[in-house]
Amino acid sequence: MTEETLTDTEKDFVGSTDKNPSHIMPKKLTLDSRLKFSCHPGVPCFTACCHNIKIILTPYDILRLRQRLHIPASDFVTQYTQPTYLEKTDMPGVQIKLREDTGGCPFVTPEGCTVYSDRPSACRYYPVGMADFHEGGTDDAEEEKFFFIVKEPHCKGFEEDKEWTVREWREDQGVDVRDEMNKEWLRLVMRRKSFGHQASLSEAAKRMFFMASTDLDSFRNFIFNSSFLETYDVDEDTLNAIRDDDEALMHFSFRYLANTLFGAQGMKIKKDKLDAKIKEIKQRQDESLQKAEQEYLELKAERERMLKESK
Ligand code: SF4
Ligand code: SF4
Repeated sequence: MTEETLTDTEKDFVGSTDKNPSHIMPKKLTLDSRLKFSCHPGVPCFTACCHNIKIILTPYDILRLRQRLHIPASDFVTQYTQPTYLEKTDMPGVQIKLREDTGGCPFVTPEGCTVYSDRPSACRYYPVGMADFHEGGTDDAEEEKFFFIVKEPHCKGFEEDKEWTVREWREDQGVDVRDEMNKEWLRLVMRRKSFGHQASLSEAAKRMFFMASTDLDSFRNFIFNSSFLETYDVDEDTLNAIRDDDEALMHFSFRYLANTLFGAQGMKIKKDKLDAKIKEIKQRQDESLQKAEQEYLELKAERERMLKESK
């Protein structure tokens, strides 16, 4: 087992998965590291952590919750969430809207979480956060990933006797599945965080990111009822999958966003559209060249006239 200490930069970065960065334990853990923790209805603080917290929802969280509640994504977003910005970027997202009277999550009761098997990713991570410094899009950089403990002062779960490895805890909480479902989307946010101030993101791009991240029904409508399919070449199998399958559509939306927001590979523009675009660019270049030539000739004529007058 290797346990290193978190640097200040890492502490800042890992804020993505914890609830309060000041409660991060300063040790890097591996999957084989051990922790003593248990959360169950018998702990004196039961449901305390479901109050006065910020729970950011990923696209997969929204998909699962709105399926659980049998309501359209737009209704879920309106009723249960409020807007926020993701990871100190200008990327718009949503967080759970807490109840005004109690400050509690709308899904908590004295008996516990009413959507437990579909609870958001953030609710599953605690008390084991994960930092993934790899943003390049491949999965061969295990050394850039580590785990850490978040210990909220009010949490009595650490006083329980149950012991786990980080691996066992993550399996129990279903975190691996969530990581897989969230990873491409998180990479988009992290990319924006890395390059943020060096590149501007248009309002239209932000709106598209928000729509695709929070409302797959509207994103599907955009794919099938706009000029999207006249512009992009999407193979028949993918089209059939994204027509009815929300998970397939969600993964497709990540690919589309990576392409339109950051120029990543993965989307093919139709040849006639590409040719038309190239023609348009060339025409603009020709026009600029002609204009520059014209300006040069006018300037030259003006100079000759002045020279003549000065003789
Ligand atoms: S979704 Fe469930 S676990 Fe998460 S804060 Fe709400 S009640 Fe608690
Ligand atoms: S504060 Fe800790 S022990 Fe208490 S309910 Fe929340 S996670 Fe469980």
